[in-house]
Amino acid sequence: MENKPSTSNFIKNIVIQDLQSGKHDEIITRFPPEPNGYLHIGHAKSIVLNFELADEFKGTTHLRFDDTNPTKEETEYVESIKEDVKWLGFDWEKLFFASDYFEEMYNRAVLLIKKGKAFVCDLSAEEIREYRGTLTKPGKESPYRDRPTEENLDLFQRMKNGEFQDGEKVLRAKIDMSSPNLNMRDPVIYRIVHASHHNTGDKWCIYPMYDYAHPLEDAIEGITHSICTLEFEDHRPLYDWVVRECEMESQPQQIEFARLNLTNTVMSKRKLKQLVDEGIADGWDDPRMPTIAGLRRRGYTPEAIRNFCREIGVAKSHSVVDAQMLEHFIREDLNIKAPRTMAVLKPLKIVITNYPEGEVEMLEGENNPDDPSMGTRQIPFSREIYVEQEDFMENPPKKYFRLFPGNEVRLKHAYFIKCNEVIKDENGDVVELHCTYDPETKSGTGFTGRKVKGTLHWVDAKHAVPAEFRLYEPLILDEEEEEGKTFLQQINPNSLEILQGFVEPTMKDAKIEDKYQLFRHGYFNVDKKHATSDRLVFNRIVSLKSSFKINK
Ligand code: ATP
Ligand code: MG
Repeated sequence: MENKPSTSNFIKNIVIQDLQSGKHDEIITRFPPEPNGYLHIGHAKSIVLNFELADEFKGTTHLRFDDTNPTKEETEYVESIKEDVKWLGFDWEKLFFASDYFEEMYNRAVLLIKKGKAFVCDLSAEEIREYRGTLTKPGKESPYRDRPTEENLDLFQRMKNGEFQDGEKVLRAKIDMSSPNLNMRDPVIYRIVHASHHNTGDKWCIYPMYDYAHPLEDAIEGITHSICTLEFEDHRPLYDWVVRECEMESQPQQIEFARLNLTNTVMSKRKLKQLVDEGIADGWDDPRMPTIAGLRRRGYTPEAIRNFCREIGVAKSHSVVDAQMLEHFIREDLNIKAPRTMAVLKPLKIVITNYPEGEVEMLEGENNPDDPSMGTRQIPFSREIYVEQEDFMENPPKKYFRLFPGNEVRLKHAYFIKCNEVIKDENGDVVELHCTYDPETKSGTGFTGRKVKGTLHWVDAKHAVPAEFRLYEPLILDEEEEEGKTFLQQINPNSLEILQGFVEPTMKDAKIEDKYQLFRHGYFNVDKKHATSDRLVFNRIVSLKSSFKINK
C-alpha cells in the first residue's frame, strides 16, 4: 500500500499524548462490525481510521465480530466482511469473535451480582421502558431491584440453563434510576433469546446487550482506544462503569467521532438489507449500493476509497458529504490507470461511400496520452462504422458541431468525414448516414489544411464487439425528502439504464473488473455478475466530468 502521510485529527492527538505521557506503550485499535449485513462506505471510514492510526504508531488493529445478537447474524456476513476489509488493503493482526468471550462475560455478570451491582428483573420490556422515565421525568425503581443476592445468582443461572422463555426475565445493572443520563437507569445487560448462534450454536440462550458486551470485549483484548460513532457519546459513562465494576485489568478509552453521511445514500445495514430483501437492489453488491461489495462491482478501486476516507477526515460534529466527492477520487485514480478506448452506446451506422469496399486499415491510438508507457493499440477502420445516435441531428441548433447534413467532423484517431445523405426507414426514422472521407486528413500526419470543430468517437462496424452498457443514477433521491416519507418512497425509478452497443476489438478479451476510460463517456468496469466469456457487460463507474471541486 502506498505510504500517505495521514492528516492530523483530534483522535491522533489523544494517541500522541497517551504515548508521550506513558499511559500506553503500544496502541491497539479495533474494527468491530456486527455481522448482520455487508460493509458500506461508512464502515470504510472507520476501517481506514482504525488501521491507519495504529499503523502510524506501530501498533496493532484487531478485526472483531461483535456477534452478540444471534437472530440477525450470519456466517455469510462474516465472510463478506473479511473479504471487504482485505480488499480495502488492510490486514488484521488478530481476528476475534465477541462470542468467544461469552463465558467470561457471564462470569463477570456473576461478579456484578455478588457485588450487589446487578439484579434479575421480571418486568416486561414495556414495563421497563415505562419505569425508565424520560429526560424530564425521573425513573422508578423496579420492584425486583432489591432481590437478595442468592436469589439473583440462582435465577441468573436458571436463565442460562434455559428454564425461562424469551422476555420472561432480564439481568439489569443496578446503577441509578434518577440519573440524568437515561443509559444509567439500571440498563438491561442480559436478555433471554432462544435462537441458534452462527458461532456458538445452541450453547447459550442468554445474550449480553451491546452496552455491557462492548466494553468487556475491548478490555479483554487490551484495546487502548475504542473509536465509535457519536451516538455512543451518552453511553460512555456506562462503558466506563462496566469496565470498572467488572474489575477489568485493562481500561480502554472510548472516543467518539461523527459518522459518515453521503448525499443520495442510505447508510445503515438495516436499510440496505431492506433494499436487498425487497428486490429493489440486485443483491448486496448491486453497483448502485454504497456497500464495499457494490462499489467494487461498480468499478471503484481500494485506492480511491482510501483516499476519499482520508480526505473527509474525522470530526466531532455531524455533516453530510457530497457523493460527488467520492466520484472525484475514482476519476483521479483511473485517470492514471485506465487505458483509453472507444465505444458506441447507441449505434448509428455510417457508410463511407468513397472508401474502397473490402479494404481495412489499422490506425494507431495511444492508450493514455498522459502516459506513453501504457503503449498504443491498433484500431481497424473500413467502409462501415458506427457513431453515437446523439452525434447526429438532421436540423441542428446553432453551435452544434457534430454531424448534420453538409457538415464535416473529425473521427478520433482517423479521418475527417462529411455527411452527405440521410437514409430513413418507412417511419421516417434515421437508420444510416452516407458520408465521404478525406484521405488527406488522416490523424497523426500533421494535416493542417482546414479545421473542424467536432471530434467524434466511433467503432468499425465489421470488427466491433457487441457489448452491454449499464448506466447508473443514484438509487435514492434526496430532493424528494419530505416529512413522513420513508427512504423506500424515495427510490429513483430511473437509476439503471441498459444499452446495447459496441466496443473496439481491442477490448474483446476484457476480464472481469478490467477498467477503461471510454472516450467522451466516462470510466467503465467489466461487470462481475453479468459478463461471461462471450458477452461483455460494462458498468459505468462515473462519467468524465463533474462540476465538483475539491478544496485542497
Ligand atoms: P449500521 O447501522 O450500518 O449497521 P453500525 O454502526 O451498527 O452501522 P457496526 O457493524 O456496529 O455498524 O459498525 C462497525 C464499526 O463501523 C463501528 O465502530 C461503527 O462506529 C463504524 N461505523 C458504522 N457506520 C459508520 C459510518 N456511517 N461512518 C463511520 N463509521 C461507521
Ligand atoms: Mg449495528
